[in-house]
Amino acid sequence: MRIGFVRIVGALAAVAALTSAGCGRPTTTDSAGNGGERTGTVGISMPTKSSERWVADGNNMAEQFKSLGYTPDLQYGDDVVQNQVSQIENMITKGVKVLVIAPIDSSSLTNTLQRAADAKIPVVSYDRLIRGTPNVDYYATFDNFKVGVLQATYIVDRLGVAQGKGPFNIELFAGSPDDNNATFFFNGAMSVLKPYLDSGKLVVKSGQTSFDQVATLRWDGGLAQSRMDNLLSRAYTTGRVDAVLSPYDGISLGVISALKSSGYGTPTNPLPIVTGQDAELASVKSIIAGEQTQTVFKDTRELAKAAVQMADSLLTGGKPEVNDTTTYDNGVKVVPAFLLQPVSVDASNYQKVLIDSGYYKPGQLT
Ligand code: BGC
Repeated sequence: MRIGFVRIVGALAAVAALTSAGCGRPTTTDSAGNGGERTGTVGISMPTKSSERWVADGNNMAEQFKSLGYTPDLQYGDDVVQNQVSQIENMITKGVKVLVIAPIDSSSLTNTLQRAADAKIPVVSYDRLIRGTPNVDYYATFDNFKVGVLQATYIVDRLGVAQGKGPFNIELFAGSPDDNNATFFFNGAMSVLKPYLDSGKLVVKSGQTSFDQVATLRWDGGLAQSRMDNLLSRAYTTGRVDAVLSPYDGISLGVISALKSSGYGTPTNPLPIVTGQDAELASVKSIIAGEQTQTVFKDTRELAKAAVQMADSLLTGGKPEVNDTTTYDNGVKVVPAFLLQPVSVDASNYQKVLIDSGYYKPGQLT
């Protein structure tokens, strides 16, 4: 990321210098020396505003594109696939120069992106891989397998199963089955949990252990809450839940609501370990209050920088920086990717990771 960051800072400095020198529209000074103009509209298509992270992602990218001289067109699909398809098609008709897309359904953009290719509009896949099309040029994301590894490792460490403690009861949740990331998170987590599930140190009393059984369409916290209600009433008439693998903060809060309705969260019946992802404000507050236990922080400022740098390079004749050319096969091709590192956060390090880094202001967490 450092090189990408330096490039963006360099580009911003170049923009500032040219503008203040009164040279009018800045042109690029990239290594390829193509001198392409940084003008025109860039299309940014995000899945939903219902989760803070996508709002931050969209705003961060829009600001960075603006600073470079582009005009961002930022649209949100409200988690409705057809909305996103129509929004992207409008962007293509309007003649955007590049598309940056976080898909709602990873596999629903094949026809739309054929139109983009016909119009010679390059495409950057943002955070979620766009599947089933050759017409995706680059992918900016986090190490998604590692997200699951961090969540599961947290559970294993806190329970002490590697040190011989247990058996403990765990229930599993996964993300939306139409989001390519959900499988990566789940597989990452299972790579850590499986030996303990096999040895009986971890027990899934509901018996629901396959991705299909534990997936949560559209990452919906309400759906997760209903599923947790069901699990508790069916599988826990005796015994207690010691840990819940949750892939996303919105799901974690739904799970915690179900647990509290069923009597957890008291000194004699404490909440289980509940993981999460995104370090959303409500979940960080829940961690501070001692309810949710962990989350995985993915710095959306850095992801936005990586994606803007890719798009800018594509438009100015440079070569986008990548650090992974093997992992993200979208069913048609392996998409060259830049992977950022996720960070596990709990009550012991949120101050350092989230506040000292300036991601949140202290006042936002009270
Ligand atoms: C993202 C996660 C997010 C989830 C739900 C995934 O594709 O990678 O950061 O928690 O979608 O929005």
